[in-house]
Amino acid sequence: MRLGSGTFAACCVAIEVIGVALFLRGFFPAPVRSSSRTEHQAEPPAPEPSTGASSNWTKLPPPLFSKVVIMLIDALRDDFVFGSKGVKFMPYTTYLVEKGASHSFVAEAKPPTVTMPRIKALMTGSLPGFIDVVRNLNSPALLEDNVITQAKAAGKRMIFYGDETWVKLFPQHFVEYDGTTSFFVSDYTEVDDNVTRHLDKVLKRGDWDVLILHYLGLDHIGHISGPGSPLIGHKLSEMDSILMKIHTSLLSEERENLSPNLLVLCGDHGMSETGSHGASSMEEVNTPLILISSAFERKPGDIRHPKHVQQTDLAATLAIGLGLPIPENSVGSLLFPSIEGRPVREQLRFLHLNAVQLSKLLQENVPSYKKEPGFEQFKMAERLHGNWIRLYLEENTSEVLFNLGTKVRRQYLDALRTLSLSLSRQVAQYDIYSMLVGTVMVLENPAHPNSRWSELDVVILLGTMGHVLSLGASSFIEEEHQTWYFLVNTLCLALCHEIYRNCFLGDDCEPRRCSHGERGFVNTAPALQDGSIGRDELEPHRASKSPTSLNTLRGWEKWMAMASPWVILTCCRLLRSLNQTGVQWAHRPDLGHWLTSSDHKAELSVLAALSLIMIFALVQRRCSLTSKVAMALGLLGVYCYRAAIGNVLFPWQRDSKDISKGLIEARFVHVFVLGILFTGTKDLLKSQVIAADFTIKTVGLWEIYSGLVLLAALLFRPHNLPVLVFSLLIQTIMTKFIWKPLRHDAAEIAVMHYWFGQAFFYFQGNSNNIATVDISAGFVGLDTYVEVPAVFLTAFATFAGPVLWASHLVSFLSSETSSGSALSHACFCYALICSFPVSAYIILVTSLRYHLFIWSVFSPKLLYEGMHILITAAICVFFTAMDQTNTKS
Ligand SMILES: [Zn+2]
Ligand SMILES: [Zn+2]
Repeated sequence: MRLGSGTFAACCVAIEVIGVALFLRGFFPAPVRSSSRTEHQAEPPAPEPSTGASSNWTKLPPPLFSKVVIMLIDALRDDFVFGSKGVKFMPYTTYLVEKGASHSFVAEAKPPTVTMPRIKALMTGSLPGFIDVVRNLNSPALLEDNVITQAKAAGKRMIFYGDETWVKLFPQHFVEYDGTTSFFVSDYTEVDDNVTRHLDKVLKRGDWDVLILHYLGLDHIGHISGPGSPLIGHKLSEMDSILMKIHTSLLSEERENLSPNLLVLCGDHGMSETGSHGASSMEEVNTPLILISSAFERKPGDIRHPKHVQQTDLAATLAIGLGLPIPENSVGSLLFPSIEGRPVREQLRFLHLNAVQLSKLLQENVPSYKKEPGFEQFKMAERLHGNWIRLYLEENTSEVLFNLGTKVRRQYLDALRTLSLSLSRQVAQYDIYSMLVGTVMVLENPAHPNSRWSELDVVILLGTMGHVLSLGASSFIEEEHQTWYFLVNTLCLALCHEIYRNCFLGDDCEPRRCSHGERGFVNTAPALQDGSIGRDELEPHRASKSPTSLNTLRGWEKWMAMASPWVILTCCRLLRSLNQTGVQWAHRPDLGHWLTSSDHKAELSVLAALSLIMIFALVQRRCSLTSKVAMALGLLGVYCYRAAIGNVLFPWQRDSKDISKGLIEARFVHVFVLGILFTGTKDLLKSQVIAADFTIKTVGLWEIYSGLVLLAALLFRPHNLPVLVFSLLIQTIMTKFIWKPLRHDAAEIAVMHYWFGQAFFYFQGNSNNIATVDISAGFVGLDTYVEVPAVFLTAFATFAGPVLWASHLVSFLSSETSSGSALSHACFCYALICSFPVSAYIILVTSLRYHLFIWSVFSPKLLYEGMHILITAAICVFFTAMDQTNTKS
């Protein structure tokens, strides 16, 4: 029995998927964890070390603060507080930082700089695995040891208002809470009013110990209009007055109770120059951390350069401040200034508790822990500490005691720093075995003898090789869009060359002879010699072609054909200026920013309306009447949806006062998408089962394609709709004036589709950075977070470019030829051209795993490639189905 070539390709891709999965498993290792994991039952705290006379201080020291308020402002960047914006918009905070009883730090967040992993890091003190970003939106309950759970176990009463992620992470931990959903990014007042409205009442009450506030508005402003927006200033002033309100109320309460309170102002992550976050740029990583308490000494003067600490240091500091055990997986070290004012014996006791906890974690994760410098420093400090205790208990109050105390403290601080560093480094360990197996599995595929590389042009071959080689450099990955723009432009010029030669040198097989020559060139490559089985099958397909000719085109069409490469080049140039992407030039002004700014809403509305009309004009021509009507209504619905959520305006609308979530409008469009997809599938089945009719099949495939176009139109932000228009326009031009008249073979057409698909991935504004994924697409038409549709919609919106080009390929090839061989051949080429860069990339990443940019640049790229492989798999399954349809009919 002969295995269908489509089935074979699908198997290849399946093996690749498993390979990539295995590789990723090895590459994103389990984070550093304590072995006593879920058992939270109180282990007795480490007693004070002593030599000789035994100390009787075995209990945990009492809390330093009676009430703790944590005010977390989402996406609060360090310069919003410590920079010129802070001076201007946050006068009270600036006063506290410079002259008040406070300690300020710049806390560095580890990537991924996304809210949920950051909250976890703040409360557990541990470093979550990179893969946590994927689970960010779902946030299941946190089982790991953390400050909140410890506080609950100790009977603290906690209240929470703000981002509902907290309520999901810590269910049943708060005696009172009000969670706000963060998914409707366009709202930045209601999310915060929802937090502030509780404040007056709660601050007057005395029945709580910990109050946590998570303000989302600033983050939302960042996502909508970037850090340069005037809205940022307003929001910072609002936050400043809230901080003042809390601080004044805590102070007046202290006057009655006579025990100090603690107010913590912090951010979970910063925001990049484009207003998003997720990666590891300075702007995303640096957040302010300010501890305010009357227990601290007032500052003598201006302190404008706060010390850099780790975000994970807060957990240990809070635990000590609240008199709780430090979370067992915490890799952070206590922020020493917070205990500076305490008696020396207490200070040393706190430092000792922290050092014991860190060294325990080290023992459980590093087999050779005894050789670690941090462990040696800790043992040394512990010995000195014992001596100090003995002297202290002998009531020796001389200078010797004081000097020894200073020495012990320094030794502990050094030990904490070193321990904390080596624990953080542990996270960068890789499971080499899984990585090797994964690599081998993926490599197996392109090396398979059935691969038919021989059909590719010189440009395509060199372009593919060049792209793969470029992946070895981090800056080429960060700016990968440039590679694809260059390749697509080169492709256009090569096509231009071919068309002109064809027009002026006549139609006598000239281009084909050229391509035979190229084939000869490829065949000389020894590795590809044995691809002959594949070529035999292919020859009849080629032989059936008549000599190519542009002369079959009428007069004006010939001129159009000659102009088409230039039109495509112009389209690409316009698309380039729509979205700046990458890293280095991402902050440059682009059309997209200009359009999305609130001053240009009218322009954006006109552009969106025109784009939707163009989309309809380009898509409808090959649809059946029913789907034409559905398409028109669907596109109308898209505009209504954007108007409802306040992105665009209707002509009769002055301003967007009543913004809704647009649920009805979006669902209306979803219905039409499903309707069109259903009609398409029905036609396909009909062509297969009943009529064996070729035209019905073509219409059916085109309808499925147009259903996907409608879905993309719904999910794309309005300023990105031109991307969709140009994609359809280029496909139409290429079909009519290039692919058909020049009779390119299936492999060449497949590769061109792949290249354009890649270029359109970047035209949309995507990059190899996690931060550019537009999460809001996952909530179009959804009331709450539902995992499967949200993940599907986000993935579809992100990869819309490659997906639409791949589905166009299927639809185009099956309308051009009724034989299955061209289609399955194209399937092979597509799968191979996708997998070649991936396999090469995996080798590179393996060899670069200790590279400085491994987390910020190479790993996100790997995630993107993993997703791409999944999509290839989906397309190949589709191809296989088509192949079967073909052989039957
Ligand atoms: Zn956040
Ligand atoms: Zn955000």
